[in-house]
Amino acid sequence: MRIASWISDSIVDGPGLRLTVFTQGCPHRCPGCHNPDTWDPAGGREVALEELEGLMDKNPLLKGLTLSGGEPFSQAADCAALARAARARGLDVWVYTGYTWEVLTAAGDPDWEDLLAAADVLVDGPFLLERRSYAALFRGSDNQRLIDVTKSRAAGRAVAWSRPDPLAHFTVPES
Ligand code: SF4
Repeated sequence: MRIASWISDSIVDGPGLRLTVFTQGCPHRCPGCHNPDTWDPAGGREVALEELEGLMDKNPLLKGLTLSGGEPFSQAADCAALARAARARGLDVWVYTGYTWEVLTAAGDPDWEDLLAAADVLVDGPFLLERRSYAALFRGSDNQRLIDVTKSRAAGRAVAWSRPDPLAHFTVPES
């Protein structure tokens, strides 16, 4: 697949420590995009999936894989394979996209379906400069949604992801 870059210790692209892969090539061209160098599909560099899998294996502290861009759905088959490799290692998968959930699910593209099926959370929609927000969790603008992919596929509509309660597994001993 073609990538712009990767970060092996991101804490801003989803919960916990994450390997974030910035794919190369994006058709959306959002005004104010922070990564315009990722727009050209011929830019960046070609990388073997095994190299990225090796990055996952190197860091036992990783909680997840994030696919960002660029536009991951422009290389959906390769991104789906990488996402499946992450899940096989017990990592969760977040995918950022400039498309909306409704566009992705209505398209009938089998590669897009494969990538959705391998994702836990989809951060959807283009970056909108006029909706830029520094308060929006894990997003650049507040039109973008954090979508729980499993629940949304079951419901046939976009269902918001909610952050798990970090204390949910703890019980308070009775006195
Ligand atoms: S979708 Fe993301 S990478 Fe593509 S132009 Fe918009 S902000 Fe930039």
